[in-house]
Amino acid sequence: MMSEQRAQLEQLKAHINDELMLLKEQTDPVMLDQQSFGRVSRMDAMQQHELAKSNYRYYQTQLKEVELAIKRMDDEEYGYCEECGEEIPAARLAVKPEVRLCVSCQQNHE
Ligand SMILES: [Zn+2]
Repeated sequence: MMSEQRAQLEQLKAHINDELMLLKEQTDPVMLDQQSFGRVSRMDAMQQHELAKSNYRYYQTQLKEVELAIKRMDDEEYGYCEECGEEIPAARLAVKPEVRLCVSCQQNHE
């Protein structure tokens, strides 16, 4: 059970790293300057650039969550809510292996 989730997390981490690598190229401001655009396509390019940047930030946050989850697994704290200490249901962990809070604590945060 535990090792299955660990494998899932490692896989997720690899996937996020791939995404980050792709996005890194797209967020490079030099690329935007080096190409010549018409007025409209330059605006498109800038919009895509912004989108890539926000995706990049999103994946960076995700990566931290996943790394933290793997660390908690090493500390044998994985699977317990960080706030109330209750066990997080396996079904919840299966959907989102990086979660740190149980459903009710999560709701209090939103
Ligand atoms: Zn809780």
